[in-house]
Amino acid sequence: MDATPHPATQCRQPMAWKYALLAGFAVQVLLVLFVTLIGLRQLDLATYNLESIVDVQMRKQNFAKAMALTARQRTLLIFMMSKTDDPFELDALLMQFRQMGSEFVAARQGLMAMPLNDRETKLLERQRQLIIEAQPIQEHIVDLIMEGRDRNVIDLVLSEAIPAQNAVQAIVTQLDAETQHSVTDASRKARVVQAVARSWMLWLSGASLLVGVIVAVLVLRYTSRISIERERLATHDTLTGLPNRMLFLDRLEQALARAERRNALVGVIFIDLDRFKRVNDTLGHASGDQLIREVAQRLRAASRAEDTVARLGGDEFVVVIGEAGGVNDILQVAEKMLAAIGRPFRIAGHELFSSCSIGISVFPNDGADSSTLLKHADTAMYHAKQHGRDRLHLYDPAMNAMAEERLQLETDLHYALARHEFIFHYQPQLDVDGGRIVAFEALMRWRHPTRGLLAPGDFLDLLEAGGDILKVGRALLLDACREAAAWHAAGHPELGMSVNVSGKEFWHESLLANVRDALAQSGLPPAFLQLELTEGIFMEDMHAAIERVHELKALGVSIAVDDFGTGYSSLAHLKRFPLDAIKIDRLFIRDLVQAPVNRALITSILALCEGLRLAPIAEGVEDAAQLDALRVLGCRIVQGYLISRPVPAAEVPALLQRDWAQAFDRAAGMGNQEPVGLERS
Ligand code: C2E
Ligand code: CA
Ligand code: CA
Repeated sequence: MDATPHPATQCRQPMAWKYALLAGFAVQVLLVLFVTLIGLRQLDLATYNLESIVDVQMRKQNFAKAMALTARQRTLLIFMMSKTDDPFELDALLMQFRQMGSEFVAARQGLMAMPLNDRETKLLERQRQLIIEAQPIQEHIVDLIMEGRDRNVIDLVLSEAIPAQNAVQAIVTQLDAETQHSVTDASRKARVVQAVARSWMLWLSGASLLVGVIVAVLVLRYTSRISIERERLATHDTLTGLPNRMLFLDRLEQALARAERRNALVGVIFIDLDRFKRVNDTLGHASGDQLIREVAQRLRAASRAEDTVARLGGDEFVVVIGEAGGVNDILQVAEKMLAAIGRPFRIAGHELFSSCSIGISVFPNDGADSSTLLKHADTAMYHAKQHGRDRLHLYDPAMNAMAEERLQLETDLHYALARHEFIFHYQPQLDVDGGRIVAFEALMRWRHPTRGLLAPGDFLDLLEAGGDILKVGRALLLDACREAAAWHAAGHPELGMSVNVSGKEFWHESLLANVRDALAQSGLPPAFLQLELTEGIFMEDMHAAIERVHELKALGVSIAVDDFGTGYSSLAHLKRFPLDAIKIDRLFIRDLVQAPVNRALITSILALCEGLRLAPIAEGVEDAAQLDALRVLGCRIVQGYLISRPVPAAEVPALLQRDWAQAFDRAAGMGNQEPVGLERS
């Protein structure tokens, strides 16, 4: 079975992260753009302001200079006019004097048209008044000059015109200074604008730096989270969250290195659930997954925090016990785990009993490196399985030889069919009331060339795994039908024949044809053939199973539920199948006399059989006390060592000739638990 991760929950997180990061980057880019734009704009503004101010002031200065120049020129011209005797020259000087006058006026008007501050306006106003005062003086002096030479003209020029002119000149100088002042002011203002721009740039770039830092931190956290998640996925099992094989080996190696330094032991506990496949087949994969998760939890709870509980896959777990003082410490943990898995589980509304097989290897006794220790713990687990499951085994070097033997067995199996090494032994089913055998169950045996007679427990799983069970099953089915037909011919026409059918055989398309052929070729009337199916088959795919059972029934054969009570099928489900018999598992017969619970259980199974018109058959009856108890409860048909072990076909006639009623009376009279059958092995 596979663990399925949940991609949806894993993906949504990174998407949100991605969007947050993108948004962060976008904000940062916008901020940087904004800073650049604002900065450039502010600087542009400052430069433009400065330029326009400088331009205005230059023009003002030019006007002021022109005014000063023309004023000085006019004074000079008056002086020159007062000195000349030549009337032509005098005319020319006068023209220049007038010309200068209008140039002064033009410059003054130009200046007045410029944007002026209060001080400049006041200065110009003052200047205007000075000019108004100086004008008549100049005009008077010019008139005197034009009228003829007058000795006083020079004095007048020196005493009146020049001082008046100087006063105007002084104002112009002040105006010039004022302009200078304005330029300084403008550059101060420009500096302010630049300072504002600078602080904007500082603030905004600070903000963008902050966003950058935040984004960087987010990116770091995101990537570290991703890498942690990646590492977790690579080293942990998604279904249970436990470490996987890789991390397990790593931890084991660390534990080995530590133990070597400190002279301690390390235990490797290999755990495999028993019959896990049955849970998957009968209750579905989701329930199987849930069981695995709960098993993981119990194993975790049964171990110390410093021990590593890992899942190797499927229903296999492994535990590392580091720095153990003695083998007993390791065994204790393993026993605790065995008990923990043995407690009932509640899965999908079912109470479910599970168990596990545990193999243990110990460093340094059973291996010096991780892979050897794991292999040996696995081998020991396999032994626990072979010896009846629900138990633990410590690794023993002899197990390796057994593993090799098994490999050999697997090879031998390939030739066994061709060499006709598979046969049936037959075990009688006795009607205790009538005191006669009513049927035989055919049980497979392998006459191994060197190991003698092998029971299904030794090879059936290998046969199923290899797929050879189909061919072997078909050949043996014909054998059994022929055998039964022969018994009928020999004077026992009432004998039935019961044959086991595994899940693989049941679902195979050739099943119906095989049964039909076997019946046709042997001549056995179909009513005398019973097929035994285990509960798991009925639960696997109920609709298909019902259909299949109907098809089989249509051939005329009867159907029994084998090992009833060990699976998880409910009686309500079984009602839907056209069944003929129920074989009560020997588990319930075993403790029948000691455990009242089992008696009650059998009573209810018998009641159910009566209600559904099913024939109950008790399996594994081993002693007279069990037989008596079954008789009292009302179970008529029994099968078990007490009657007879499964025997070769040649020994069947002897069983049939026995006087069973007398044998029972003898056994009951002795009140002992001796087998009454012929076969005492
Ligand atoms: P099963 O169908 O439950 O068969 C009954 C098993 O219990 C047999 O084991 C039988 O020898 C044993 N048994 C009978 N009476 C007693 C008793 O009083 N006490 C004890 N302890 N055991 C008793 P066996 O022959 O080893 O077969 C084991 C299983 O192998 C069978 O269990 C059946 O599931 C399977 N099997 C046997 N033959 C075939 C076969 O031809 N085809 C398939 N598919 N499976 C088979
Ligand atoms: Ca059976
Ligand atoms: Ca059985």
